[in-house]
Amino acid sequence: MATTKIIYFVVEGRPEQAEFPSDCPAQDVKEVFRAAAEAGPYDILKLYNTKGNIINISPKLESNTRQTQYKLEVVAADCKTDSLGSELAAALGFDLSAMEKRLQALEKKILVDSADMPSVMYEMRNRVESFRDKLESVEHLSWLGLFKELTEGTNKPSPFYHKRSLRKTKEECQQVMENYLHMSSLEVTEEVRQYLKTPTFDNWQWEDAEIMVLLQLMYMDLDFMSKFNIEMEVLQQFLFEVYRHYNNIPFHNFKHCFCVTQMMYGLIWLTDLQNKMDDIDILTMLTSAICHDLDHPGYNNAYQPDNNIFRNLTTEQFKRIREGMIKCVLATDMARHNEILNQFRSIMSVFDFNNKKHKDVLTMIIIKVSDISNEARPMDVAEPWLDCLLQEFFNQSDMEKLEGLPVSPFMDRDKVTKPSSQTGFIRFVLLPLFIELANLFPNLEQHIIDPVRKALDYYTEMEKALEMEKLNRTGSSQSDKIGKPTENQKESKRVQIQLSQTKP
Ligand code: 5GP
Ligand code: MN
Repeated sequence: MATTKIIYFVVEGRPEQAEFPSDCPAQDVKEVFRAAAEAGPYDILKLYNTKGNIINISPKLESNTRQTQYKLEVVAADCKTDSLGSELAAALGFDLSAMEKRLQALEKKILVDSADMPSVMYEMRNRVESFRDKLESVEHLSWLGLFKELTEGTNKPSPFYHKRSLRKTKEECQQVMENYLHMSSLEVTEEVRQYLKTPTFDNWQWEDAEIMVLLQLMYMDLDFMSKFNIEMEVLQQFLFEVYRHYNNIPFHNFKHCFCVTQMMYGLIWLTDLQNKMDDIDILTMLTSAICHDLDHPGYNNAYQPDNNIFRNLTTEQFKRIREGMIKCVLATDMARHNEILNQFRSIMSVFDFNNKKHKDVLTMIIIKVSDISNEARPMDVAEPWLDCLLQEFFNQSDMEKLEGLPVSPFMDRDKVTKPSSQTGFIRFVLLPLFIELANLFPNLEQHIIDPVRKALDYYTEMEKALEMEKLNRTGSSQSDKIGKPTENQKESKRVQIQLSQTKP
């Protein structure tokens, strides 16, 4: 029998209480807290117990009293990129596009006023143009993000992605490191330790410093500290270097690094991989996941002496990890997706955990699964990730349009919708890959395939609703010509809109 739970908490100094049946879905519980905090759909909610430890918002929350009430905090979601243009300008020391615009306006004014262009104006325009040419063609200035490769691919990175302008500031890093070091001495509850081993983990509840504690916990709970003689300070310094080198961009940021690593960590536990593979291979996989999207040419910095977590390994061990990591990181390139999946398919029926080649292919498959596993997470964790991904895609295609380059169709805001970008991806990329891994580890089906199937249903419904909405819109614009839409038509449109905005 489900009992009603009452949870007491304060939010912004206000005492509140949440009531829910102990067997209701986790999402409903989150919604109760979200409503109490008047938080937006993508804001991060954090609940603390009296000891100051973060606790998971779920139906399993321990009941409390007003005297032992929890504290709820809201952190605004941070997948915004509004300041990117100005960051590029900051990196350049001036705003090139603004300068070009001013120049154009000046040219126009002069032409209108005197109908003749003075030579000094030509001179100025030539200088700005040749400066832009230089930025676009000199490779060592590519950090400014305007560099155009000679071979124009469809996937050219947007200038907005570029590291220099999107790098974290020193102050930001120092603050996070300070918080991290402070928190790393605090105890993490057993509940969080266990929750961290599951694909249902909600990353949005955790700030970057806390995420560093969680990554540290993974090395500790896999026993890597003692097995590979890793000193705590060295691990902390290493995690800090990793944090520093993920850029402030919508999708491929430190939180993505964490999600990929956390999914891999979950898969390691769910498949009992520690009893099937060597520890050193699991250390390689986990560390590869952490490093896989580091976006910094000086990547080798992560191996400087005071942050080299592999410094106590033998030369042989180090060589093995290094080679393994290169293999893993390169395997996340989607251009190699079919090649790697086919390799795995060809050995599946004879898979042998004693065969090094087989294990190598498996590690590549596991990092690939982890890398693109957002849709395997609960809907309220996964959906904001899609928003972040599309934001990054749209930024890129906007820049491609501005620069007159070919636009990748799946990144084009005029062509892509949330459901259209997911239905094909889930059907043709996610499911075939995940099903192959679940063939080897059947118990994964419920953890990674079931949620992906649910996501496919959800986005298929959303796609239908959007199409209906479109039809309705064309319908009502025709009826506009004839007369006003009937109340019925209006009502049906409202229902469609609601359908496209809410989850099933
Ligand atoms: P990455 O290595 O870049 O993190 O992930 C590989 C690529 O897979 C991403 O850049 C993106 O193109 C694609 N991808 C990952 N997750 C999703 C998703 O949920 N939807 C879609 N449409 N593409 C995804
Ligand atoms: Mn990735």
